Amino acid sequence: MSERPRLTVLSGPSGVGKSTVVAHMRKEYPEVWLSVSATTRKPRPGEKHGVHYFFVSDDEMDKLIANGELLEWAEFAGNRYGTPRAAVLEHLESGAPLLLEIDLQGARQVRESMEDALLVFLAPPSWEELVRRLTGRGTEPPEVIERRLDAAKIELAAEPEFDVTLVNTSVEDVARELLALVEVV
Ligand code: ADP
Ligand code: 5GP
Repeated sequence: MSERPRLTVLSGPSGVGKSTVVAHMRKEYPEVWLSVSATTRKPRPGEKHGVHYFFVSDDEMDKLIANGELLEWAEFAGNRYGTPRAAVLEHLESGAPLLLEIDLQGARQVRESMEDALLVFLAPPSWEELVRRLTGRGTEPPEVIERRLDAAKIELAAEPEFDVTLVNTSVEDVARELLALVEVV
């Protein structure tokens, strides 16, 4: 038995349903701690600073990176995203299970720096359904959707790098499966 709580990374193409699954899981099981990332992306309607992301300027992101304050970071579809290091390390000490919802490049960095992390890939039931979800969300203009779908092709090809794949057909089922993975050490 490990003495440390498990660090679980959830990745998968944009629009597959990562945020939806995580929100569902945390509503039922608030004890699972989710890292709040910093991003240079602008907030979507309803997104709150400090809850969904820390929304930062390019200059602020430059400083976070230069000061080594991010555990990992990546550029995704024209914006930068990163995981604040201190909060993750504090939670690892506290003993609560923790979850990072980050892109493929970030997952690879965590794999390098934290060997015992569990990497979970959330896959769509089909390519057509992924396009439908990303488009149907209605939060990005067509050119950003195209960029995200280009990234999705690369991410789907990297699925074998992950420890576990969950297919997001039913939000309830996947949330339950994810919880079981997060809690098992
Ligand atoms: P991500 O965080 O991976 O970018 P979202 O959680 O924003 O994706 O989900 C993208 C869209 O797909 C949202 O409109 C969401 O309501 C929808 N969605 C998520 N999971 C499912 C599912 N299992 N079945 C149908 N629609 C889903
Ligand atoms: P979105 O703009 O849709 O919220 O997120 C776009 C992508 O960035 C998603 O794949 C999401 O998982 C990823 N992402 C969010 N936060 C981070 C982070 O801190 N680091 C990395 N590497 N990716 C992140």
